[in-house]
Amino acid sequence: MRVLVIEDEARLLRNLAKALREEDYAVDTATDGEEGLSKAENSDYDAIVLDIMLPRLDGWQVLERLRKTKKTPVVFLTARDTLADRVRGLDGGGDDYLVKPFDLSELFARLRAVIRRSAAQPTAEIRLGDVSIDTRARTVAVGGRPVSLTAKEYAILEYLAQQHGKVVSRTELYGHVFGEREDTSNLLDVHVFNIRRKLACDLITTRRGHGYCIEK
Ligand code: CA
Repeated sequence: MRVLVIEDEARLLRNLAKALREEDYAVDTATDGEEGLSKAENSDYDAIVLDIMLPRLDGWQVLERLRKTKKTPVVFLTARDTLADRVRGLDGGGDDYLVKPFDLSELFARLRAVIRRSAAQPTAEIRLGDVSIDTRARTVAVGGRPVSLTAKEYAILEYLAQQHGKVVSRTELYGHVFGEREDTSNLLDVHVFNIRRKLACDLITTRRGHGYCIEK
């Protein structure tokens, strides 16, 4: 899962990014509304955590402009706690709302919920032939036999599975799993190689020059 956090308080931003990375999210960050909007428009995030009081563009303006092109789920973060603000955030196309100070576990739960809703994934399980993926427990089984994947391997498999039938470019997959921080290398190939070895089946197809695909 790849998320963007737009927050101008440096310490809070750092702590949020660190906590989300520990939860195995790929995290990109922005410290003002303009930078945030530009990243949000130019990448496909699974969710955006958006502060309201921001320099350059405030959170409401970011959301209003973003909604012209993208439906990426947005969780507002704000110090404001009046009813009118909450209503404005949700009416403007925000998906959820958290008032500072908040508990990290609550943010994680809300992120999982908005991501699930936006993926229109009615159940937590994805089945592709013999392979079943439990997206809530983040576990994988082949023919009922549990397979142990690392967090990155799981993230790659889950993303391809959610988009099965579609070719996912290396850039898109890399961004989804690693965010903007690490440089591109053959890491993806190594992870895909390991997934194939562990699943002992050729679920993931390589489309040379295009990317990866689960065809079923
Ligand atoms: Ca702020």
